[in-house]
Amino acid sequence: MSKDCNTIHQWFNGMKKHSFSFNEQEIPENGIYILFEKGEFAHSTNRIVRIGTHTGNNKLRSRLKEHFVNENKDRSIFRKNIGRALLNKNNDPFLKQWELDLTTKKSKEKYFKNVDFKKQKETEKRVTKYIQDNVSFVVFQVDDKNKRLEIESKIISTVSLCDECKSSKNWLGNFSPKEKIKESGLWNIKELWKTPLSDKEMIKLKQMLNIN
Ligand SMILES: [Zn+2]
Repeated sequence: MSKDCNTIHQWFNGMKKHSFSFNEQEIPENGIYILFEKGEFAHSTNRIVRIGTHTGNNKLRSRLKEHFVNENKDRSIFRKNIGRALLNKNNDPFLKQWELDLTTKKSKEKYFKNVDFKKQKETEKRVTKYIQDNVSFVVFQVDDKNKRLEIESKIISTVSLCDECKSSKNWLGNFSPKEKIKESGLWNIKELWKTPLSDKEMIKLKQMLNIN
């Protein structure tokens, strides 16, 4: 598995990298994104730290904004996980409140008295700063939703099954309360250690990335 993981690391690292504030016009409307993080290396290049996509049609750009810009942890599992690790690193008891999902009006009403909203806002700002300062990404177009989900899953599996991809000692994910993040070295929880890309799918992916 390490061989294919090495190959996709070289492919993705050879592509145009984006970081905050990215030019939306350079991002396809539908596709998969691959994240890199400062200080993380594997296969003699930048280590892949997260693979993600979107379900809604034409939503890739807004999905990336939910991670990089919009300060709402309950709309971005990536933000939620970065916040969990930042808080856990400091043994901050606010972690318990950070876990509450305040998406619906009902849950907002239910937890209103329990949540320190000033602290929540501060934490959102820290998450934004961390992501904008440390995370970069590449994207590639995949128009079909089922195809996107399948390729996303298989890339996650290919990278998580690699024995050469290791997080650095100081990686923020090592402070995550989520075992799977620590163990996999990825800001992903689903689709780990499942079916990796086959040889045929590697060839198709290469074509999708326009690599000769
Ligand atoms: Zn690897």
